[in-house]
Amino acid sequence: MSTCFSEGFYKAIFEGCSDAIYVIDPQSSRILDANTRAWQDLGLSREQLLQHSVISLQQGVENEEHWAQIAQMVFASHPHAFTFIGRHYHQCGVFFPVEVYTSIIEFEGRQLFLSVARNLDRTSSQREEFRTKDARLTYALNEAVDGLWDWNIASGEVFFSPQLKRMLGYLPHEMSPLVETWTDAVHESDRERVMAALDEHLCGRANSFTAEYLIRKRDGHYIWVRDRGRICQRDDDGNPLRVVGMVHDITLSKDLEERLREQASHDHLTGLLNRRAGYIHFSKQLSYALRYNQSLTVCLIDLDHFKNINDSFGHLVGDSVLKHFVELMTATLRQSDSLMRWGGEEFLLLLPNTNIASAVKLIVQLKEKLSDNPVMHGLNEREISYTFSAGLACCPVHSQSLDSLIKCADDALYQAKASGRNMTMVSDQERNGYPELF
Ligand code: GH3
Ligand code: MG
Ligand code: MG
Repeated sequence: MSTCFSEGFYKAIFEGCSDAIYVIDPQSSRILDANTRAWQDLGLSREQLLQHSVISLQQGVENEEHWAQIAQMVFASHPHAFTFIGRHYHQCGVFFPVEVYTSIIEFEGRQLFLSVARNLDRTSSQREEFRTKDARLTYALNEAVDGLWDWNIASGEVFFSPQLKRMLGYLPHEMSPLVETWTDAVHESDRERVMAALDEHLCGRANSFTAEYLIRKRDGHYIWVRDRGRICQRDDDGNPLRVVGMVHDITLSKDLEERLREQASHDHLTGLLNRRAGYIHFSKQLSYALRYNQSLTVCLIDLDHFKNINDSFGHLVGDSVLKHFVELMTATLRQSDSLMRWGGEEFLLLLPNTNIASAVKLIVQLKEKLSDNPVMHGLNEREISYTFSAGLACCPVHSQSLDSLIKCADDALYQAKASGRNMTMVSDQERNGYPELF
């Protein structure tokens, strides 16, 4: 048989190949030619295929700039083929996994890319060896939505799956395959906790490794991930050799969780802690005061005749009066003081390290400030003046328990209202419920 084959012979090889073959222009990413398997795999006619570029057919190639980076890597790999596992787009709307080998060919003084793409969907059902454990693992590593990692403890090497790299914004050849690549990317405020969770699993105290943490992407931004791993290989003495894990991007649910937590603990209108979260905060402040023998004054504040404001000006104006009150108060208070929304027009003010005399002085100041700064309403800037009443109780003088401090302050507030409003009363337990009046 002659060793000199005709052009038709080479054409027959090109067309008869069971893998898709593409000839690509490195500069424009356009497909210059492709064999029958290529256009059949993509659900296109040959003519349609030749109008496409790699960017429109390959998931993960985002734009021309990204293609230029990939082309650079192909040139850098020469004379070896540049290999990656990606996804090609079929016209019916689905992506299928492909293993692609891209090498450089020279033709008439021009450098072109020759890509051979093996459809893994097809090979997976045909090849017997694909049913082996390793092949299934390879398939899972490349096909799972979550990112996967495989850590060889002795060598310190880690395999990061293409999905994991994509999740963190890296290209397939980036991310050094070392465990330090991962530890360095974990946010420093989470690192200790995450390492401790991993240690718990490695030394057998936990069945698996699970952690939620922030991890840095290539561009410096952080995303929230849930990471789960398990030892999959041990030596004869039972020491772990290999750990495999899965990383899931939970940034969206974390953001939502954060918003819900904020909504659950804060009052929507004023941004102050609500009563539920206020109790927790109060109890912490009280423990601190008792431990360090400091006084803590509790003030219950209620706006006077607030219903009249709503009735005269409407509910929206009522809302802006509440906001006005909170702004004035918080501008005057110390950073360590805390104002919480206890109910509709009722607030609880906590003054740490403050005795009754100083607290009364502060309330007098607040009242003056309020009378100097009425709410300005409407186009003609009509002034709306309002006042408040306050009931005070102090730890340890009146009580050392949270509930009874609130009860004392509430009784004092009731007396302030009963005495004509715009008053401040201090609880006096010893005098059996007759508060002092200021
Ligand atoms: P007092 O001096 O005895 O405290 O009289 P008051 O009118 O302030 O008290 P009352 O308990 O009779 O009415 C409180 C009003 O506060 C009734 C309620 O509709 C109103 N209120 C509660 N929360 C809000 C709110 O978020 N926005 C507005 N605009 N009004 C509110
Ligand atoms: Mg009121
Ligand atoms: Mg009230």
